[in-house]
Amino acid sequence: MGGTFLCPRCGEPGYLRIKAVSKRVYYYARHFSWEGGKARERVCYLGPERYVAGEIFNGLEQAGALDGERFRRYLLRLVSRMGEEDLRFLREAVDRALRKIEEGRAKAAGPSPEGSEEG
Ligand SMILES: [Zn+2]
Repeated sequence: MGGTFLCPRCGEPGYLRIKAVSKRVYYYARHFSWEGGKARERVCYLGPERYVAGEIFNGLEQAGALDGERFRRYLLRLVSRMGEEDLRFLREAVDRALRKIEEGRAKAAGPSPEGSEEG
């Protein structure tokens, strides 16, 4: 990968740096700016390509911030291991989160012209 991209950590544009250290790969975002006539570099650590130590007990295929699909993958792995009680707990949490999103969307849209949502 090369060129600029939006850093998933700070949201600023930056350059990707890939560093290989003893068979492991680590990602960094390099941000450059000019301050007082001098070039300054700020670095955001974006995590490893794959977490190794954290996988010993979790087995979630954990990855760093550059992997945009990681949360879905973690969730699917967790769901496949959960029992009925935990799955029902999760369903309620998901329903609550969805209701919050829908309420926020309804508020942003404003009241309907005929007030039909009030009834
Ligand atoms: Zn950053």
